[in-house]
Amino acid sequence: MIRISDARVINPFHGEVIENCEILIEGTKIVSVATAGSGTEARRGDSAGQRSISAAGKLVMPGMVCSHHHYYSGLARGIVAEIGPTPDFPSILAQLWWRLDRALDEEDIRISSLICSMDAIRSGTTAVIDHHSSPSFISGSLDAIADGFVQTGLRGASCYETSDRNGPEGMEAGIEENRRFAEKTAAFAAAGDEGPPIRAHIGGHAPFTLPDDALRKLGDLCESSGTGFHVHVAEDRYDASHSHAVHRKDLLRRLADFGLLGEKSIMVHGLFLSGEEIALLNDSDTFLAHNPRSNMNNNVGYNRSLTGIRNLALGTDGIGADMFEEFKFAAFKHRDDGGPWFPGDMMPMLGGGNEILRRLFGGRFGRIAEGYAADIIILDYPSPTPLDADNFAGHLAFGLGSSSVNTSIINGNIVMENRKFPFDEMEIYADAAARAPEIWKRINSLNG
Ligand SMILES: [Zn+2]
Repeated sequence: MIRISDARVINPFHGEVIENCEILIEGTKIVSVATAGSGTEARRGDSAGQRSISAAGKLVMPGMVCSHHHYYSGLARGIVAEIGPTPDFPSILAQLWWRLDRALDEEDIRISSLICSMDAIRSGTTAVIDHHSSPSFISGSLDAIADGFVQTGLRGASCYETSDRNGPEGMEAGIEENRRFAEKTAAFAAAGDEGPPIRAHIGGHAPFTLPDDALRKLGDLCESSGTGFHVHVAEDRYDASHSHAVHRKDLLRRLADFGLLGEKSIMVHGLFLSGEEIALLNDSDTFLAHNPRSNMNNNVGYNRSLTGIRNLALGTDGIGADMFEEFKFAAFKHRDDGGPWFPGDMMPMLGGGNEILRRLFGGRFGRIAEGYAADIIILDYPSPTPLDADNFAGHLAFGLGSSSVNTSIINGNIVMENRKFPFDEMEIYADAAARAPEIWKRINSLNG
């Protein structure tokens, strides 16, 4: 059992602030949240096996969720390699990302996953939805990704981004890796609280690299595994144009025809969707993950349809997992574009990842309340102005950042305390920093 005392609880997605309360965690869940003096708080003093954390002067809130990430990019930060001209989005993929992912071997993926998981936890993110690609090492690659989650205690999901860009064999191997990992994580789910908190989606790169044959097989796999499809859609105008030119239909219509939309599916980006496609997305209860920093970095444009989308979540598209930072960019880019939303209007998008977790894991996420998953962060944030449920979004946009995160609890386990991991993190960073230049050198020998 873990007891967090003297907590100032913020439930940003439920408009709640609870002062001076005590939170009890048993197993993987929050079992009690009681205000001091209510008579229901636990007796003072630690019982055997109980851990106590004083949150005096701190904020306690549900952990953040990153709803779209690429762990394979973990060792690309500051990359120095011979990258050719990148005048448009397809050339950014061909010159950079499709050479980086081909350069990765099993150990690179394992270390990249570990680094990304540590960065996520340090940023106050307690769950990450990953989307993986490593064409030179496909079978077993999602196990290497899962290792980083398990070693750090992070919650999340992964999938393999199936595509035809490495020929039919690469495509079939991608489909098979999705099938294998979905089966493996179904066993985790069947083990209940004893299994690691890791689940699967069925992954695809994007409609323009997925022929009908692949979509048919991926649709069948979604149906047989009971999970959803995680794919980039209309990140750039090219994806939408390709679908019209080659398949004679809108790309979401095409995915819907293969049964790939639905409540467990995540479409990513969606900058160039028609009104009919947005209706398809909303009517099928599908999620859309918005990644503002990535869209800005790739100069693909801005998603002006956000306000009309029913299920929105926020991702980073591989630019770390700092959702405090991503939220700020989401808010400022929207204002910069002349959109109608203020930071408070964007809170459902920040909290959307909790609904994705509910659809993956069952149970309840995203609130410090009895019966919810014990995914909790404790922050040092001496606020210079009043902070309450009504203005919390303003603090997030204009002040509160991930450097305030002090302690993180995931699935009932303390995974970082006073900003320290329970393992030698510097050794892992040193290993990664030695390995990254070797990967960058390998990229130079691969064609774009
Ligand atoms: Zn992505």
